[in-house]
Amino acid sequence: MDFLRPTTWEEALAAKADRPDAVPIQGGTDVMVEINMDVRRPAALLDLNQVAELREWAMVGDMCRVGAAVPYARVIEELGGPLPGLAQAARTVGSPQIRNRGSVGGNLGAASPAGDSHPPLLAAGAVVEVESRERGVRMIPADEFYLGVKRSALEPDELIRAVHVRPATGPQYFSKVGTRNAMVIAVCSFAIALHPDERRVGTGIGSAAPTPRRALEAEELLARELDWTAPLDPALTRRFGKLCAAAAAPIDDVRGKAAYRVHAIGVMARRTLAWAWNDHLGKRAA
Ligand SMILES: Cc1cc2nc3c(=O)[nH]c(=O)nc-3n(C[C@H](O)[C@H](O)[C@H](O)COP(=O)(O)OP(=O)(O)OC[C@H]3O[C@@H](n4cnc5c(N)ncnc54)[C@H](O)[C@@H]3O)c2cc1C
Repeated sequence: MDFLRPTTWEEALAAKADRPDAVPIQGGTDVMVEINMDVRRPAALLDLNQVAELREWAMVGDMCRVGAAVPYARVIEELGGPLPGLAQAARTVGSPQIRNRGSVGGNLGAASPAGDSHPPLLAAGAVVEVESRERGVRMIPADEFYLGVKRSALEPDELIRAVHVRPATGPQYFSKVGTRNAMVIAVCSFAIALHPDERRVGTGIGSAAPTPRRALEAEELLARELDWTAPLDPALTRRFGKLCAAAAAPIDDVRGKAAYRVHAIGVMARRTLAWAWNDHLGKRAA
């Protein structure tokens, strides 16, 4: 197995262009498991750990640009203010060791329907920055990035450079059902982001369809009927929960039954909306 070790982004793009079969490796918390378990035996590994810029985040205009290699531990410590939904999700990932090594870029690269970054990125309206040597930069909205089970819009000669997320303008929540409280892949998960300035609510469903996805009809319902100055209408909350559950298309597998997942998505949707709404009204009253 060849081991490619670029030290700059340009070298990394060149390596990927010359060897599209090379598998990028960042924290290695997915890649090394697959190699150890003989799930795959790539001809080459493209180690991105020497490309320092991937570990940086910064405000660029009105967006927070998070380098692909920023690990969950730093999302929790440094980005809880601007990106509370992503930070909450990061707190639920694996163990401290996994959160130190594992990255949001790696979660996107793996594109597992159960990845915990995806629902908050969808709810917040994130955009994934990818690049190839030949075609330059592509900015892919998160809801166009996931194409199938562990399949994304990333082309073989492209690398993920960063993800752009608008800092929260309202409350955000992430909720995850697992078979225990820590070190658990989601049975299913749900994220919500209130965007009071746009009078819009964003959603993200995880581990309950072939890809992470938004509950579009549920979002449209709230855009039409939510009164942003009033207490939450219980009937509207129930209809929101039902539409979120209807947006799920899960399967039965070792972690949970499809029917349970559909039910749980509805419950999490109602709960997270209520939590976010309490914060929203509390802020208005303060
Ligand atoms: C014990 C354990 C517990 C876990 N718990 C969770 C959990 O609770 N929630 C969860 O979501 N995940 C979990 N995971 C999975 C994993 O930690 C995450 O998916 C993590 O985000 C992967 O990040 P990484 O940097 O380690 O990626 P890597 O393993 O380095 O890469 C993952 C994938 O992304 C690709 N890739 C990496 N960087 C790039 C790039 N810049 N451009 C293009 N492709 C790239 C790789 O080729 C690979 O396909 C767990 C894993 C383990 C081993």
